[in-house]
Amino acid sequence: MILGDQLSRGISSLSDADPKRDIVLLAEVADETRYVPHHPKKIAFIFSAMRHFAAELRAEGFKVDYVTLDDPANTGAFGSELARAVARHGAGSAVVTHPGEWRVLHAMQGWEDEARVPVEIRADERFFCALPQFRQWAEGRRQLRMEFFYREMRRGTGILMDADGEPVGGRWNFDAENRKAVPARLDMPPAFFVSPDAVTKEVLSLVAARFPDNFGTLEGFDYAVTAADARRALAHFIDHALPSFGDYQDAMRQGEDRLFHSVLSPYLNAGLLDPRAVCEAAETAWRQGLAPLNAVEGFIRQILGWREYVRGIYWLKMPDYAHTNRLGAYRSLPGLYWGAPTGMNCLHQCVDQTRRLAHAHHIQRLMVTGNFALLIGARPSEVAEWYLAVYIDAYEWVELPNVHGMVLYADGGYLGSKPYAASGKYIDRMSDYCRNCRYDVKQTVGPRACPFNFLYWNFLIENAPQLRSNQRMAMIYASMERMDEVKRAAIQDQAARFLGELTTEY
Ligand SMILES: Cc1cc2nc3c(=O)[nH]c(=O)nc-3n(C[C@H](O)[C@H](O)[C@H](O)COP(=O)(O)OP(=O)(O)OC[C@H]3O[C@@H](n4cnc5c(N)ncnc54)[C@H](O)[C@@H]3O)c2cc1C
Ligand code: SF4
Repeated sequence: MILGDQLSRGISSLSDADPKRDIVLLAEVADETRYVPHHPKKIAFIFSAMRHFAAELRAEGFKVDYVTLDDPANTGAFGSELARAVARHGAGSAVVTHPGEWRVLHAMQGWEDEARVPVEIRADERFFCALPQFRQWAEGRRQLRMEFFYREMRRGTGILMDADGEPVGGRWNFDAENRKAVPARLDMPPAFFVSPDAVTKEVLSLVAARFPDNFGTLEGFDYAVTAADARRALAHFIDHALPSFGDYQDAMRQGEDRLFHSVLSPYLNAGLLDPRAVCEAAETAWRQGLAPLNAVEGFIRQILGWREYVRGIYWLKMPDYAHTNRLGAYRSLPGLYWGAPTGMNCLHQCVDQTRRLAHAHHIQRLMVTGNFALLIGARPSEVAEWYLAVYIDAYEWVELPNVHGMVLYADGGYLGSKPYAASGKYIDRMSDYCRNCRYDVKQTVGPRACPFNFLYWNFLIENAPQLRSNQRMAMIYASMERMDEVKRAAIQDQAARFLGELTTEY
């Protein structure tokens, strides 16, 4: 059985598959479409990629049993679909690869009873770091740090290492050269797109009919849905965007949805692209002099470092990780996350882009929607559900550590050493959103004050008992303590009124 994010020809469950003996099962099940209200583009992407993958296996000579969502006999769950298929084919055993979500693994452990045949769960080998290897690395460390994990991965894989076992360019990290704002005049890379074929069009109609009320539009669907097109997307990124990826990695600009980002996460996470091939392609571009080291190292760190690191943490800490809430955040997520109008231009732009594309780049997710959720004290489980629902690349193994760990500090600093809280000043420095906003980013209190400003100070005040002793926040707490009482009271008052109107409390 192949799941919707396991669409790799090299997946472990297919490693010894024999077309003469074995049957491959793929099932579009209702349970997976509704455990959160997914963006319609995400559902369409996965179903279309599944259908194309099935067609490729058939072309190779495999007998593929494919159950569509609208098949009247479809029972709507993986376990019962496996049981039906076992009965249909008289299968003596089943093979599956370890899933990406704890929820599915938990269910999978009951499949033997449901299907009444042995079910072998094989390791997912599509990652650089096997789960036991990560567990071993993490053992005995009170806090984990991505930077140290990443260096181990560089050493272990030899990626961007020289012959003497040293990092190429003499440094592990070139971030000091990155993080520039986008200048007013800069040529943007051309967009990569794939026109929907007949299979995708059929899926788009199915999704439109079945999920009319989900947040997000199907219009303009142009994602790749095959491994071949995903490789073209990779080549396009390497040629056009990688050289400037490092420089503008943290920048945001109104009207430029993707800037120099790769938009490869949907393909990596569904199995259409192999992370090794992606890192190799980037390293080759540097070795051939086609992209600078600050860009290539910055890009590879996201995949060899962050992506592997968050997966390791997820499987190490689940299921408890999903219930963490160190700051005791308790407010509801406001309607603006689901498209309700807002005068805060940065949030409007990022949420609207998410509605259109089911994609936003890292800084938009971290420093705009994520930062705002942190500052208003939104309940982590609700924030996590939003991220899981609205992004085309969202699977819990990657989404949850980013939300609970990186953005909300809900895990108390296990993944990152301090919350990424920031005032409007950061957004103003890295984007042009503030120039088009009805609020004034330079004001902290008053009718036109940027809400990120008073919410930022209010966040620090509200969470002082938890954060004041954090070494990395000592400077900011010192400056907060220098603030005069009248200003502090005005900030708290404005924040309380704003939050009272914006959210409800649980
Ligand atoms: C709150 C929050 C939620 C997120 N949820 C997801 C998610 O559900 N799925 C997901 O794939 N990424 C998630 N990310 C990480 C990151 O934002 C996306 O991977 C990235 O924006 C995808 O776009 P891209 O392919 O253009 O990335 P690029 O900027 O081009 O980066 C290249 C690749 O690096 C990997 N990567 C980069 N940052 C991270 C990271 N922090 N964690 C894991 N992988 C990373 C991705 O595979 C990405 O494709 C989240 C980040 C935040 C802050
Ligand atoms: S002024 Fe504040 S709310 Fe408006 S775009 Fe800038 S940061 Fe966002």
